[in-house]
Amino acid sequence: MPNIAFVNGRFMPLAQARVSVEDRGFQFGDGIYELIRTYAGRIFHLDDHLQRLEQSAAAIGLSIVYSKSHWKAILEEARTRSRYPDAKLYIQITRGAAPRDHSFPKKARMSVIVTVRKLTPLPTDLREKGVAVMTVPDLRWGRCDIKSINLLPNIMARQKARSAGAFEAVFIRDGRVMEGAGSNVFAVIGGRIITPPKGPAILPGITRDQVIAQARESRDPLLEKGVSLEELLAAEEIFLTGTTVEILPVVQVDGKTIGDGRPGQTTRRLCRQFQQTTYR
Ligand code: PMP
Repeated sequence: MPNIAFVNGRFMPLAQARVSVEDRGFQFGDGIYELIRTYAGRIFHLDDHLQRLEQSAAAIGLSIVYSKSHWKAILEEARTRSRYPDAKLYIQITRGAAPRDHSFPKKARMSVIVTVRKLTPLPTDLREKGVAVMTVPDLRWGRCDIKSINLLPNIMARQKARSAGAFEAVFIRDGRVMEGAGSNVFAVIGGRIITPPKGPAILPGITRDQVIAQARESRDPLLEKGVSLEELLAAEEIFLTGTTVEILPVVQVDGKTIGDGRPGQTTRRLCRQFQQTTYR
């Protein structure tokens, strides 16, 4: 089955997709993105992703060229052409190609790119046994709520974690837990589900929103509030959320075992509830 790209209005095989070396995404990381997934051929949380894309665009001074219905048509066509039941739809918008200069170009046309690739699910034993995470200092900028393509600190952090045998890096700023390099963090502390509040320091995750909605529906005690590193290390349960990881139990932080070293009850229930929403 084919990997597909859409570049500035045209569909093509991914292997043929090209942008200019003067593209500001390439030169400066001057752009934003979204990663959306499909389950059994259906696009998951599309409206939420498009809304966040618009927010990111507005935050960096780009106005999105396509209406929501046009986006939907493009993504549906990309999905249909690729024929993957479970796919990753990646959208990237940059300020376009222009002679290299920090200030915004007067004439450049935005580059709008969509790629579709097969989504390989996480190995089931990771999900069943849980993963280890490693905490790292948060060296990112002050607007982590923008889904910017500048991911160098995230990449460095993830690699540091992987080199140490951990699945994910968790950013710590001023002694507090922020989020993972590509995920949000939840902990069960004193029987309450706690996750750091939205704000400029974290990405407002769409899976995070879903988990909060699920917990509220089940009348679980849930708080959006700061979590210190000490609290995280002493938590009964921890899990990560994200479009590709879904809800992923964490059983070790910096080598310390969380709970009894197995995915906790609350995490497992939230996972089961989540599975029921994914058209599988
Ligand atoms: N935080 C960061 C830094 C991320 O890259 C992601 C993945 N996009 C998330 C959180 C989770 O967001 P979502 O649930 O929307 O995928």
